[in-house]
This record gives sequence, C-alpha cells and structure tokens, in this order.
Amino acid sequence: SYRKGGYHAVRVGDQFAGGRYIAQRKLGWGQFSTVWLAYDTRTSEYVALKIQKSAAQFAQAALHEIEILSAIANGDPSNSSCIVRLIDHFKHTGPNGQHVCMVLEFLGDSLLRLIRHNRYKGLGLNKVREICKCILIGLDYLHRELGIIHTDLKLENILLFSTIDPTKDPVRSGLAPILEKPEGNPNGGNTMNIIEKKLKRRARRVAAKISERKASMGGVVVEGAEKSQKNLDGIDARCKVVDFGSACCADKQFAEEIQTRQYRAPEVVLRAGYSFSVDIWSFACTAFELATGDMMFAPKGGQDFSEDEDHLALMMELLGKMPRKVAIGGAQSKDYFDRHGDLKRIRRLKFWPLDRLLVEKYNFSEKDAGEFAEFLCPLLDFAPEKRPTAQQCLQHPWLNLRNSTEDEMKNEANLGNVNVGMSNLEIKMG
Ligand code: ADP
Ligand code: MG
Repeated sequence: SYRKGGYHAVRVGDQFAGGRYIAQRKLGWGQFSTVWLAYDTRTSEYVALKIQKSAAQFAQAALHEIEILSAIANGDPSNSSCIVRLIDHFKHTGPNGQHVCMVLEFLGDSLLRLIRHNRYKGLGLNKVREICKCILIGLDYLHRELGIIHTDLKLENILLFSTIDPTKDPVRSGLAPILEKPEGNPNGGNTMNIIEKKLKRRARRVAAKISERKASMGGVVVEGAEKSQKNLDGIDARCKVVDFGSACCADKQFAEEIQTRQYRAPEVVLRAGYSFSVDIWSFACTAFELATGDMMFAPKGGQDFSEDEDHLALMMELLGKMPRKVAIGGAQSKDYFDRHGDLKRIRRLKFWPLDRLLVEKYNFSEKDAGEFAEFLCPLLDFAPEKRPTAQQCLQHPWLNLRNSTEDEMKNEANLGNVNVGMSNLEIKMG
C-alpha cells in the first residue's frame, strides 16, 4: 500500500506544513490513512496527523471528511460536544503523490482497545453510563444541530482522552531510534518490533510484580481482578467520537449499505431507507458491548442462509418478532421474508430476551438487567421512527443511576469468570 496512490511513508522527525508539524510516532491506521502523533511547533502541543492515501477517491473522501469536521468545529467553539476537533488541514506532496492531511486533537486508546485490555469482559455499569452519556452528547449535537448521521458508530471509533504524556516515554516521543518501514503492511516495520519488545518486557515485569504480591498475600490475588482494577482506575471515561469518513448529511445520502456489519440497523439490512436513528441502533449495540464485552449481534452466513438472514434472525431472537410491516418494507425483504413476515430459510428461532440474557449469560443481578434492558430496548425498536432521539435518550433515568461500589465489584467479578486463564502477556499484547 506504500505505492503510488497509497499511503505516505513517514519517518520520525519528518516535517509537515512547512515545518509546523514534526512526526513523532505512529498512532494507528485505517483503510484510507495512517495517523501519526506530531508535535505542533506553533502551539507547542501534540496533535494527531491523519495522512490520507493519495489516489483521487481517497483525496475526495478526505475533503468530504474535512467539510464535515469543519462544520462540527465551527458549530462548537467551546469544544464540548464529545466529537474530535479538527485543528488544521493541508496537502503534503511525497513520492506516492499528493496526500490530504488532517490535523486533529490528540486522543488516546479506543474503547475497543479498552475492552481488549480488560480481557473482553464488560466494564462496570457506572463506567458504561459515563461513556454512554458522552456518546449521546456527541450524537445529539451531530443530529440536531448539524443534521449529520455518523453511520459508523462502534467501539473502534470512540476514543478515550489520552492519559499518556508523550514527552515522558522515549518510545512514544520518538526520541528512540524508530524507523517507519517504507514498504508493505502499514502495521509492519521496525516500530512494531521495538514497541512489541518493550511491551513484552513490561508485561514480564507486571507478571513478576503480581506473583510477588500473590505470594505476600497468601496467593489470594486473582490476576484478572488485579488487572481490571488497574485498568479501570486509570481511565478517564470521558471520550470522543471519531472517524467521519463515512458520515453523511441526512438529506444527502449516497451510500445504500452503511455501518459496520455487527452494528447495522435492520432497515439498512433490508434496504428500506434510513435516517438518524441508525446511529441510535449502533449506539445501543455499543453500550451492550461495553457492559458485557461481547458483540450484541455477530452474524455468520451458513450453508442454507446468508449473513443478512442470520443477522435478522439474531435480532428477532433477542428483541422478538419483527412487525410484518417492517419486515416486508425493504427492497431486500422479498429475498428474506415470506408474505406473512416470517424468515424463509431460518424457521425456528430461539427467543432469549435481553433482560434474561443479561442475567443468565452475563450474571447481571435481576435489578441491573431489568434497568439496563429498559434503557436499551426502545433504542432497538424495529420501527426506526419509534426509536428515541439522542436528546430523548439523554433524559433517561438509567444514565443517572449509580451502583454502589460493592455492586460494581460484584459485576466485574461475575463477568471476570468468563475468561479466567489468559496469561498477562496475552492481555498486554492484545
Ligand atoms: P480511517 O478513516 O483510515 O479508518 P481513522 O480516522 O479511523 O482512519 O483513524 C485510524 C486510527 O488512527 C484510529 O483507529 C486510531 O487508532 C488512530 N486515531 C485516529 N484519530 C486519532 C486521534 N485524534 N488521536 C489519536 N489517535 C487517533
Ligand atoms: Mg477508521
């Protein structure tokens, strides 16, 4: 991908925008871009520099993203909307062509990485509520003030605030000799090797510390508990929504198929048209995943049915039968449903309502399960127009409930039982 039209190869210390920004280390990458931590010499702050692939269609997409991010930033001068801030943008010419670059505020790990580090067990409900509030504030602003649909809400696209100081760690600041591999996998190269080695060493140190502590306490410390405490105490649960690469104005939609599969709303699966409420569906899937560590829907195609059909079946098993009117209302409906509104190829559904699932599979207390399901179920209404708006969700009393510390610890301990036995190194290495 590091060829004409593709990614721009960056080395630590490379300068951008006439020397204003200096590359420090790679933060991540996506289908369209690589993202680097950079030092802004004008403001003396660290920023995230998103460098788009150079081919025309990628440049076009970046300009679209800049347009949307500019509207977001202009409408929110106090930067309080829980959406990533665009600071600057420019073009950079390299050996592979001209790359549109976006300068964004520097944020931390995604919620996906948080869940991974937490061994795919859920977060305590108090933390889930804090994160949900942030996402909803972001969605409410997008939907109501700007008329924008995100269309790709998921754990990966929600970033926590960074808790690291880039100046403190030599690997992160780029003071160590890290070189970007110019060819091949954007994830490859020396950077990863050096960081991986460092992480392995660090993981060994952590493991040694834990066994030391275990010995001193007569072996009663559970590794998972120790680990999860460490993770959760450290996080600032404020977060921001990122990745507006596929966002659209509600009145100017160009894509029929939107959203990442597992977070896709039924009206999109059925091609029945969509609006803001597709983000509400994805938000509910995200909230469930935060609280349980599992995806709400993970459809797989089979021999006799497609991924779409499995997806629709999973939705109905959790939420009840789809009203006939909705089921037969999309351009794809005829392929999947008969005229009674029953799936053609998946005839026997195993209903497992959300509150029961939370109790029976995830060991939620009856009270927690009931309250959480009451919050989530309306957001997962099959009829899009019946789903509450982000503004209405923000009014829901569930967001202001507070579990006692004891309840939260019980929750985490219960969820922790699911995956005991993973080594610390594996957790650390994701
Ligand atoms: P793409 O459009 O190519 O998918 P994204 O905007 O999703 O690009 O960014 C790719 C990755 O870069 C993200 O998953 C994240 O790890 C990292 N990243 C993006 N924006 C920031 C930011 N503002 N601060 C820190 N890391 C970021
Ligand atoms: Mg992305």
